[in-house]
Amino acid sequence: MNPAERGHIEGAAMRCVVVGSGFGGAVAAARLSQAGFDVTVVERGRRWEPGSFPRDESDLNNRWLWEKDRGLYDLRWLDSMISVQAAGWGGGSLVYANVFARAPGDAFDQGWPASYNRRELDPYYDLAAHMLEVRQVSRNPYTTALPTRTQSMDALVSKLGRSAGTVHPHLAVQFAPPGTPVVNRHGQPQFGCTFVGECVLGCNVGAKNSLDHNYLALAEKHGATSLTDTEVRAIRDSGSGFVLSVRDLESEREWEISADSVFVAAGAIGSFELLMRSRGLAHGLPRLSSTLGTNFSGNGDYLAFIKRRGVSVDADEGPTITTTTIVDFDLNKNRVWFQVQDGGYPRALLNLVAHLDPTRATRTAVSRGLARAIARLKIDLTDRASARGHIMTLLLMGRDSSDGRLSLDHHGEARVTWNNRKNARLYRAEGQVARLVAKALGGSMTASPAWRYLRKGVTVHNLGGVPMGVDIAHGVVDDAGEVHGYPGLFVIDGSTVPTATGVNPSATITAMAERNIEAVIRRHLRDPLWRAPEWRHVQPGTVPEDEAMRAMNRSRIERSGHGVVFHEKIKGRLCATGDDEGAQLELTLELECRINGWRVFLQDPLRKVTVTGSADVQGLRAPAAVTGTIQLFAPDNDEAMQYELRLVAEDGRTWSLNAVKAQQAGRPWRMLHDLTTLDSRLTGSTSPEPLAGTLAISASDVVRLACSVRGSAFSRPQRLAAVGRFLAYFARQAARGVYGRDQ
Ligand SMILES: Cc1cc2nc3c(=O)[nH]c(=O)nc-3n(C[C@H](O)[C@H](O)[C@H](O)COP(=O)(O)OP(=O)(O)OC[C@H]3O[C@@H](n4cnc5c(N)ncnc54)[C@H](O)[C@@H]3O)c2cc1C
Repeated sequence: MNPAERGHIEGAAMRCVVVGSGFGGAVAAARLSQAGFDVTVVERGRRWEPGSFPRDESDLNNRWLWEKDRGLYDLRWLDSMISVQAAGWGGGSLVYANVFARAPGDAFDQGWPASYNRRELDPYYDLAAHMLEVRQVSRNPYTTALPTRTQSMDALVSKLGRSAGTVHPHLAVQFAPPGTPVVNRHGQPQFGCTFVGECVLGCNVGAKNSLDHNYLALAEKHGATSLTDTEVRAIRDSGSGFVLSVRDLESEREWEISADSVFVAAGAIGSFELLMRSRGLAHGLPRLSSTLGTNFSGNGDYLAFIKRRGVSVDADEGPTITTTTIVDFDLNKNRVWFQVQDGGYPRALLNLVAHLDPTRATRTAVSRGLARAIARLKIDLTDRASARGHIMTLLLMGRDSSDGRLSLDHHGEARVTWNNRKNARLYRAEGQVARLVAKALGGSMTASPAWRYLRKGVTVHNLGGVPMGVDIAHGVVDDAGEVHGYPGLFVIDGSTVPTATGVNPSATITAMAERNIEAVIRRHLRDPLWRAPEWRHVQPGTVPEDEAMRAMNRSRIERSGHGVVFHEKIKGRLCATGDDEGAQLELTLELECRINGWRVFLQDPLRKVTVTGSADVQGLRAPAAVTGTIQLFAPDNDEAMQYELRLVAEDGRTWSLNAVKAQQAGRPWRMLHDLTTLDSRLTGSTSPEPLAGTLAISASDVVRLACSVRGSAFSRPQRLAAVGRFLAYFARQAARGVYGRDQ
């Protein structure tokens, strides 16, 4: 058959093979079988029923690692990076932390085909969210409170003024009474979450909405054949379709499967390896684009451990991840953006680590140091075991350079060429923020041993390697995932994600798969209106992280150019206007004055400084809260400084305090007096008459004020520079007030 004619075989007759049962594969399997195609899903891993996931170190079947006995976790030593993935019916969903996060709109601006954007993908994100039944973390039914770790993070971001940038992300978990049976949206039996924090080890409770409970169950219900423990070794072009060489990993039996259409969804590493092997075969897929292997990304992942002194974080309570905090700031005029997630630390994780085999690393990696790092990782983590409950993990991720290059080593396994230096700004900032979080939580931070000792990043979010492009010169697949030169062959998983999303990627992989498989089905059925049956139940969902990202972006702009903060104490007595014998009021103000971003400050013609603080007002039992602004040497204001403050007492009474510091030209000896004396007027509820008088900053408080000036920026040099710039501005403007000319 002419290849151009392929892809138009009538619906029910078309034989489809899906390779891999992770997010991309599960969507393809479900939708193709719902549309009536003859579907076979080939998955190298086994089925993992709830209760069957490994937990003990002495697990006789060694079921932890793929390399040992086709276990759950497939750790790949890719030379420049370590990639963590899973094998089994459900792919990465078996061990993922359940986070369903949409990529921010601007993630699609660079490196993506124009047809991908949030407007286009949002309906498919909604569909995926419906299928995976996502929701925010609930209270732990045993304690009737949010998990301790969640509370710690919430309290921390509130203390740091970062609450607007923090969300409880959507999670694909059944939050029902612990351990009670639940029938999910797809008619499958599951159980309520027991908050044991073992999501990343496979959920033995059956509360995680992994793909076997939804998409894959639907595929089988609609007649899909599943071949687990079966690996696809190669794909060949038969002229009229494709032939897949497969091997039963139990019996070692090898045979071939013919297909009209193939949907490769073996994950970023697996799909690359399969396609690269097939390209190298004489009758395989020799015309695959030379771009195969490019655009690989670790999604900017950075793994850190926090050891908290004294207070337990109950790291094995609750789902693995419960909060996401967006970090967005300018560093040396470059935007740095990433997110931080709290992570659990279940006891059984140590048993997984105990199975890591350093000799394996030396076989595939150039560096013997890697073996040493793994040995240290074991010691480190075992040490930490004694402090269990006090240790939590932090997972940071962002937009890395997404330009890694995958190749095959002489064992036929993937390795990656990755330039850490290009990503140094991101990794360094992630490390610094992790350290900051640890310090703020009253603990200490260590990066993953692989990073600490060898500068090898650990990614759980490998992406790319099978780029999209308009033609064979620019990509392996088109923007619908169909392979250039091989109509009927599709790639439909994380390998086709063009750049790091900077957020947990499975929602994007699922939404892309939904979009692309819908197009394939419509084309094959010649039915432009075909839709997944679940669409009729789909409601547009809330996206908690969108508002957080907008808030942090606004904050970045406000803070651009870095800022300063200083404290001043002002006191004095005010009395009824013109009547020293009348009503009087003693007043002491303790103010925190803040310029968030120098650039915005200079652009503001009023040069406003934000003020918060408290006021001891004579006769009040508790200090009143103060908010307001100071105009600091505004170009069009004759006064050196103008204060506009609002005082609010506990009992609800309010006052307005307007004060000015005026400088007298030509009298430099009065400068200190002028800049510390406020001609003030108070109006409000204490007296029907306004009170007026002079407030002042005492000599000792002037010294305290000068010493209190601090820069607010990410790094120490930037903070020092911000203080220097502020003091220089202050001195220049004060001198101008005296001499009346440009200094
Ligand atoms: C510990 C951990 C936590 C994570 N947490 C999150 C999270 O909270 N949120 C999030 O969005 N993402 C998370 N991820 C990432 C997420 O799991 C992956 O991004 C996602 O699974 C990738 O989907 P995929 O369809 O590309 O491939 P996978 O889900 O990796 O599926 C590929 C499947 O193909 C099979 N396969 C490979 N080669 C072959 C072959 N030759 N023949 C047959 N079968 C083959 C594999 O066994 C596997 O089952 C996490 C990952 C890990 C490891």
